[in-house]
Amino acid sequence: MPGGNGRLVEEGEGFADDRSVRAAVAGIRAYWLRVEADTAARRELVDFLVEQLSGRDDTMPQTQTTEPMRIRYAALSDQGTVRAENQDAAYAGPRLFAVADGFGARGEMASSTAIDMLRTIDAVEAGDLLNVLQDTVDRAHRAVGEIGEESGTTLTAMLWTGSELGLVHIGDSRAYLLRDGRFFQITHDHTLVQSMLDEGRITPQEAESHPQRTLLVQALGGSETSPEPELRVTDVQAGDRYLLCTDGISRSVAAGEIRDVLAGTEDPADAVRGLIELATSAGGADNAACVVASIE
Ligand code: MG
Repeated sequence: MPGGNGRLVEEGEGFADDRSVRAAVAGIRAYWLRVEADTAARRELVDFLVEQLSGRDDTMPQTQTTEPMRIRYAALSDQGTVRAENQDAAYAGPRLFAVADGFGARGEMASSTAIDMLRTIDAVEAGDLLNVLQDTVDRAHRAVGEIGEESGTTLTAMLWTGSELGLVHIGDSRAYLLRDGRFFQITHDHTLVQSMLDEGRITPQEAESHPQRTLLVQALGGSETSPEPELRVTDVQAGDRYLLCTDGISRSVAAGEIRDVLAGTEDPADAVRGLIELATSAGGADNAACVVASIE
């Protein structure tokens, strides 16, 4: 946590009175809560992956790991019942899955521009995946920035090279993984409220009703600062089900319900329809977009 350490050193300079000591103590406590929150969020996923990897050699026939994987997918976006236009975009193709949630007067163009930029990626060499995604995000940030009128977009996407799945994420859209019946959120929201939660300054209950819960700390376009996306190569297993969705789904449909649709619907096209229906029956207050991809 280089950022956390840096802040502590500054706060530690020149304790003048009890107040600055108390501030330093609060700073250390906030830092430690952040470390604990980060660790806890990853612990369950790591335990699960270790368990899976340990069991794999004994229980899985060799052919399952060498056969080429097939991916079935579907994408759907919906205006909802309240908004005047649909600024959410969703795309799924043989190599790319993406959702984007545009904002500002030209948010619809912002979200489609971001996804179009990812669609320009040609075949990616093994080992080059993260560089390609970072370069594309930088280009998308500039292209969305040129749209102007303080418009911007979130972007959560996965790129499949045939052997690797790369994840890129900026903003508060989300990626989830359903593996062997267990359901994980595999992205971290880039929101002010999530940062406050990570720092232990608010509780999960307070986060849910916080007046600034939709305020983004990172997005494409909308600011001069280049975004620092979450970027990684994820391990892929036969049977995995990935969901990418905008907050029109994750904020209006309970995680358990989302999980049940993913687990209980065989065809990805039925799953995306089911998720949009749940968002609509919850009021459809926001645009909603989702992609479901099944690894077979
Ligand atoms: Mg939204």
